[in-house]
Amino acid sequence: MKYISTRGDAPTLNFEEVLLAGLASDGGLYLPTELPSFSEAQLTAMRSMSYPELAFEIMLPFVEDSIPRDDFKAIVDDCYSVFRHDAVAPLVQLAPNQWVLELFHGPTLAFKDFALQLLGRLLDYVLERQHRKVVIMGATSGDTGSAAIEGCRRCSNIDIYILHPHQRVSEVQRRQMTTVPGDRIHNIALEGNFDDCQAAVKASFGDQGFLPEGRSLVAVNSINWARIMAQIVYYVYAALALGGPQRPVSFSVPTGNFGDIFAGYLARNMGLPVEQLVIATNRNDVLHRLLTTGAYARTELHQTLSPSMDITVSSNFERLMFDLYERDAAAVADLMHRFKDGDIQLSEAAMGRLGSLFSSQCVSDEETTAVIGEVYRRNEYLLDPHSAIGFKAAMDCRRDAAVPMVTLATAHPAKFPAAVATAGVGVEPALPAHMADLFEREERFDVLPNELATVQSFMAEHLSA
Ligand SMILES: *Cc1c(COP(=O)(O)O)cnc(C)c1O
Repeated sequence: MKYISTRGDAPTLNFEEVLLAGLASDGGLYLPTELPSFSEAQLTAMRSMSYPELAFEIMLPFVEDSIPRDDFKAIVDDCYSVFRHDAVAPLVQLAPNQWVLELFHGPTLAFKDFALQLLGRLLDYVLERQHRKVVIMGATSGDTGSAAIEGCRRCSNIDIYILHPHQRVSEVQRRQMTTVPGDRIHNIALEGNFDDCQAAVKASFGDQGFLPEGRSLVAVNSINWARIMAQIVYYVYAALALGGPQRPVSFSVPTGNFGDIFAGYLARNMGLPVEQLVIATNRNDVLHRLLTTGAYARTELHQTLSPSMDITVSSNFERLMFDLYERDAAAVADLMHRFKDGDIQLSEAAMGRLGSLFSSQCVSDEETTAVIGEVYRRNEYLLDPHSAIGFKAAMDCRRDAAVPMVTLATAHPAKFPAAVATAGVGVEPALPAHMADLFEREERFDVLPNELATVQSFMAEHLSA
């Protein structure tokens, strides 16, 4: 399997290279040249598989040029054994033909564990083989940071630096990052906002001269292809559990950077019958506006009850754009260059392709709170604010009531107790047992001023030997 850039002007890479790459050198994102495809018979045969067995089958074609079968099998088995539910990704029914796929049984209680547990192990494997060490640098408004730290905590070839905006992430989220022990783990609380954190990371990737000879930065945000790949698996898993591939299934996905839902789109292109994909957004509705008007246009950032979806631009949408423009990389490059300076309009043909599979809905904080309350009163089931947005959009957007609709529950409600409390249902979501002592654990983080040079010299000084 080879990987190419959406903008058509960067070297073609193999899996091992794409794993260690961030953005392509032309500013684009990497995608496989062609997707593996599974026949109806092959998918049917996968129905009896456990999650790790299925994950191995689905992902093998993407990696097999770089990683021997048996090694990959061991990595995948180890990865999903840390999830605290025997089904790994269990389905729960909330209403007639309305399901929730619980993706929060991993170590940090959000779906990002599915990808980052795997990414950490894959990185360690290839770095060990190459006798190489790298530096992970990432910015987080909450969930990515803790999932990346948990994914890499046992990797001896990785130093990890996660920047979060000082005093602007929830206490649960901060503690999930800062209480993980290890000399190679560094939490930087930057005296600035999330955009300042992201700007520091972006500038550092652009000029890595502050690192010693032989070390380079690796990206753990969803521009990394391996993260998308890992997320394809649970779409297949859920669909097979609900009668696929003989029966189509629809999905509603709480969406920020478009990484998660893009994986659902790929699952469909690999042979899974997916009827409809619902893009569920909070007030930061750049994609919902695109679907309804055809214009891709930035607006200001709003803080909402669902902070992991607070974005102004969905970076992975470029990957879908590549297909919407029939893999015309020059057209994508042109659009994205123009988007740097202002709004862009998608062509009618592209909008037609988009609308045939995707629907969208923007859900306000008030509606989010109302849905958490309603679902609790009807089912005694607590949704976190992100999943509540997905569920609301699932109910409003579904085109065919006979097709099972699966909402991806992207986080555990105990991660967002304040938002859940606004629903006034009178119960507080409890942290799972393995985290019950989170508030007693010792924290480690360094508060740094919002100055690039200070951040970079801190990083250089704290690198392991
Ligand atoms: C990251 C995140 C999302 C958004 O996922 P994207 O892949 O960025 O679209 C939604 N919900 C939760 C809880 C998240 O952590």
